[in-house]
Amino acid sequence: MFDIVIIGAGLAGAVLAERFAQSNKKILVIERRQHIAGNCYDEVDGNGILIHKYGPHLFHTDFVDVWEYLSNFTEWHVYHHKVRAMVDGQIVPIPFNFNTLVKVFPKNLADRMEVTLLKNYGYGQKIPILELKKSADPYLQFLAEYVYKNIFLHYTEKQWGKPPEQIEGAVTARVPIFIGRDDRYFNDRFQAVPRHGYAKLVEKILSHKNIKLMLNTNFDEVGELRGDEIYLFNQKFTGRLIYTGQLDELFSYKFGALPYRSVEMKFETVDAESYQDVATVNYPNNYDFTRITEFKKIHPAQSKRTTILKEYPQNYVKGKNDPYYPVFTDEARIAYEKYSAELKNFPQIKAVGRLAEYKYYDMDDIVKKALDVFAELKD
Ligand code: UDP
Repeated sequence: MFDIVIIGAGLAGAVLAERFAQSNKKILVIERRQHIAGNCYDEVDGNGILIHKYGPHLFHTDFVDVWEYLSNFTEWHVYHHKVRAMVDGQIVPIPFNFNTLVKVFPKNLADRMEVTLLKNYGYGQKIPILELKKSADPYLQFLAEYVYKNIFLHYTEKQWGKPPEQIEGAVTARVPIFIGRDDRYFNDRFQAVPRHGYAKLVEKILSHKNIKLMLNTNFDEVGELRGDEIYLFNQKFTGRLIYTGQLDELFSYKFGALPYRSVEMKFETVDAESYQDVATVNYPNNYDFTRITEFKKIHPAQSKRTTILKEYPQNYVKGKNDPYYPVFTDEARIAYEKYSAELKNFPQIKAVGRLAEYKYYDMDDIVKKALDVFAELKD
């Protein structure tokens, strides 16, 4: 009855469903949650403000094809994300850049550091903190130590439960030191949020007559792996299965559970029109939460009140919270490799997305990946 079954209605699953539906395939999408759009799901709250239920999601991309593809399903509200951090009682721009230098150091020291940075790196370059820490120059060493201690160390310990050296370098390199005066969090060409939100965008992507969606349904309620075969509604399924969930779960944790970090989201209503100057303020030190996001600053809304979100990272525990970020320990990598090898016994199954590929994908990377997978599998 169905040519393709897709597990998960997040961005990866939705884009693949739409692409295959357009080429006349019949698709069944199975989603365990009661809503689509995965962790980029959003909704209008009691204050009339569009909030991101699973934390702030800011779309940014340099991929023209991804931008154009998504533009078929949404209008955009152009929005360039700005983040500040509370450091020594001051609110300063993040990523750390020349504007931050003059806020945290006396002018003559800040000038000296700016010139030293420009002598060592090109204007517009991005330097990961762990790289800057290796610098031999005493001014840059001092700067690196300051930024490390005040911006990265405690935030990373809260976010990951480990110091920066014990997590993959690429993670802290997402927020580099920026050689220049650009205060934006991202430098990509296209930066915007869907005008009516991500849930509406994904709803539109999925609204094709060839796509049937089942919410509130676990894969194991309708299907199972038997030997190297897939059974669906108790019948052998010979089509393709696109799996965007956790790989350890698909294989009943036979090589152990893969570790993830989760985040407890605490939304608050503040009885004021505005709470902070920019959408997100990071609190690297002194608080249990990592950051506060005010959604009105992302999606403008007429409201006398404002909604803020405090994020409290914690370990993922099955049944208690949701998996957000893969934790790349050596042990986790080895286990993931074993699950990947196991997947080779099932040529019908393709694993795609942040959970199934155990990768720290951004939203645009996921859409790119889904478009690439479609190109690979379509014939
Ligand atoms: N990070 C940090 N301090 C900050 C911002 C980021 O230490 O003020 C580190 C932290 O380890 C974090 C990583 O950089 O997990 C990536 O940050 P990003 O804002 O990209 O995380 P996301 O928005 O994906 O949670």
